[in-house]
Amino acid sequence: MTTFNDFGLHADINRALAAKDYSTPTPIQVQAIPPLMKGRDLCGIAQTGTGKTAGFSLPSIHHLLTYPHRPTPRGCRMLVLAPTRELAAQIAQSCRDYGRFTKLSVSTVFGGVPINKQIRDLSQGVDILVATPGRLLDLIDQRALRLDDVEIFVLDEADQMMDMGFIHSLRRVAKLLPSRRQNLFFSATMPKEIAGLADQFLNDPVTVSVAPQATTAEKVRQQITFVEQKEKQALLHHVLKTEDIDRALIFTRTKHGADRVVRHLKGAGIEAFAIHGNKSQAQRTTALQAFRSGQVKLLVATDIAARGIDVSGVSHVINFEIPNVPEQYVHRIGRTARAGAEGIAISFVAPDEKPYIRDIERVTRTRAEPVKLPEGFNEMVRNLPKPATPPRDTGGRGRDPQRQREEAVRKRDGGQPRGERGPRREGAAGEGQPQRKRRFRPRRGGVGAHKGAVTRVG
Ligand code: AMP
Repeated sequence: MTTFNDFGLHADINRALAAKDYSTPTPIQVQAIPPLMKGRDLCGIAQTGTGKTAGFSLPSIHHLLTYPHRPTPRGCRMLVLAPTRELAAQIAQSCRDYGRFTKLSVSTVFGGVPINKQIRDLSQGVDILVATPGRLLDLIDQRALRLDDVEIFVLDEADQMMDMGFIHSLRRVAKLLPSRRQNLFFSATMPKEIAGLADQFLNDPVTVSVAPQATTAEKVRQQITFVEQKEKQALLHHVLKTEDIDRALIFTRTKHGADRVVRHLKGAGIEAFAIHGNKSQAQRTTALQAFRSGQVKLLVATDIAARGIDVSGVSHVINFEIPNVPEQYVHRIGRTARAGAEGIAISFVAPDEKPYIRDIERVTRTRAEPVKLPEGFNEMVRNLPKPATPPRDTGGRGRDPQRQREEAVRKRDGGQPRGERGPRREGAAGEGQPQRKRRFRPRRGGVGAHKGAVTRVG
């Protein structure tokens, strides 16, 4: 069996791995690290949860340490592109963890937060820069960043980048990179157009692939219940009452659907946070922190917002609404059953969602176990508590726990930076898929200005 010592990684990296208690490399690490150590390009077909971040960052950090030199002003030695702010922040955190016994600097830049601090952070240059594409290009346009000294380029979650409409941004980035560099390309799925994009970036790559989608789906206990759309709230209450839930991620197709679920839960005195593209950066961070730490057991999310989020101990994924793209379903249920743990995915299927289930079964080559509506369900529907009234932009601050925690984070971070709205193409892009029924009509309110803090780590 391969161990981390077999890779010949720099001693400071091995120390960090020991500190993190990693003993055995994951399959993607076993496959990816040796060719990357030799400087090869890599095409990785793997999704979050497989250990791919360590798979690409360990050999890259090794390279940066083996050929030490200061980054050029406004430049970076390693550039990682990720589709969402959350994933970018998570990758940066991993790089900081793996590089904690080194002097390497790690910065993240993404939209939705003021750009000036990011400009200052980059002025001296950084070793590792993790960015979302839109803000990266903004910084380049403002001459705060140049890419001509990039030695290692990583494109993460390429399929998600395409879905979010980042293709033109990526092509622009590709033109700005120096021709001599190492390229790493990751995607959970590899349909033709993604393979085409990979070709543009990669030079004679080694291809590695782990956990094909069917395998991921097989690890999760999947259940489906057929229920009318308007009765899903009652079913959710029942599931939350009867299932032994450590942490549950509840998925809706739209941002407004997510807010609605949260309001219904609140109406019944159940605390839950929502995470989606209409939330400010501070709200998203607060919600994730509360969910990670176990303060809040329920997180209601849209697909885009939840992509790449790595939270261990998610016992249940509840598909309050069924995605119309089977791959999204695979991504969703992949949030549970991490690292061999038992996971349960429960899908609430309305009559008009039945065709989606057939597509999902075809793609995952699995069949979910049907679960009947509970006895006395009509009674439950009748007795369902009323949803909480939505908080207005100005009122209700003190009563909404997500808002309260956000206020606390803001105070801690030193007041309210004048948030700028992140470009639509970033983070929020791709959300708000067509709303299917009038019942999802957007409601105003609840979300303040976009605020947040730039992360500079390392
Ligand atoms: P990733 O797919 O990179 O998001 O990693 C998923 C999770 O697995 C993260 O929480 C990592 O800290 C963890 N992880 C990565 N590699 C290992 C390993 N070799 N042993 C134990 N945990 C790991």
